[in-house]
Amino acid sequence: IDRDSFTPEHERLYHATLEQSLRAGHAILKGGGSALDAVEAATVIMEDAPMFNAGKGAVFTAEAKNELDASIMDGRALQAGAVGGVTTVKNPIRAARAVMEQSPHVLFTNRGAEKFASDNGLEMVDPKYFFTERRWIQIQTWLKQQEAKAKPHAAAEPDRHADYFSTVGCVALDTKGNIAAGTSTGGMTGKRFGRIGDSPIIGAGTYADNRTAGISCTGHGEFFIRHAVAFDVSARMKYANESIKQAAKTVVQETLKKAGGRGGVIG
Ligand code: ASP
Repeated sequence: IDRDSFTPEHERLYHATLEQSLRAGHAILKGGGSALDAVEAATVIMEDAPMFNAGKGAVFTAEAKNELDASIMDGRALQAGAVGGVTTVKNPIRAARAVMEQSPHVLFTNRGAEKFASDNGLEMVDPKYFFTERRWIQIQTWLKQQEAKAKPHAAAEPDRHADYFSTVGCVALDTKGNIAAGTSTGGMTGKRFGRIGDSPIIGAGTYADNRTAGISCTGHGEFFIRHAVAFDVSARMKYANESIKQAAKTVVQETLKKAGGRGGVIG
């Protein structure tokens, strides 16, 4: 969301939920809990809050549906799990964690991901659960704009500029020195049916390695995938001995900008 379109009430709501999320993660870490538990707990709160583009509040696809992506990574042994294009999993971050811990795989998509989540006892919802009026208005506006441009649908591009910086992410470091990172999103407004972004791609939208950092990204996913952004930040730290600040700055301000991609990372 652009800062200009923020009302004070908007801002207060965002801050209150972010604080609630932060506190949930912090309480776990303070009690000696794992970075992974903290990331999951903090992310679930943001997924459940309607103002973020993740879980409830996710943006709509060009077909006016909600398709969610999420991933989580454990920096201790480079374990990771992810789901892409799910429509009935209430908390995709929990599904990502289940993939990591309960399967030998890393990424499940669509119906396979949903079946896996449901088989593992996760809360499933009707796709209507993800509806919010704000996102609905957003997709209707986007659809009208596409029509006005008289572009055939096949050439439609996801909304590059409006309101896509509200994917959620979390990075945590626990008292045992373990790092975890997680990302959850509805993707980009007007994305094509079946499109999967960077958020569930390990190395693109999420990465964690105890030897370097935990990274979670937001922005125009295609660029983050092509430039393996999350991994690149970690790799620069490992191979070039850069600080996290330096590495993130180079990747976001130089690599991505040169390529024409916009976004940001937390680490
Ligand atoms: N990176 C996400 C995607 O491309 C969108 C976002 O971060 O808002 O799916």
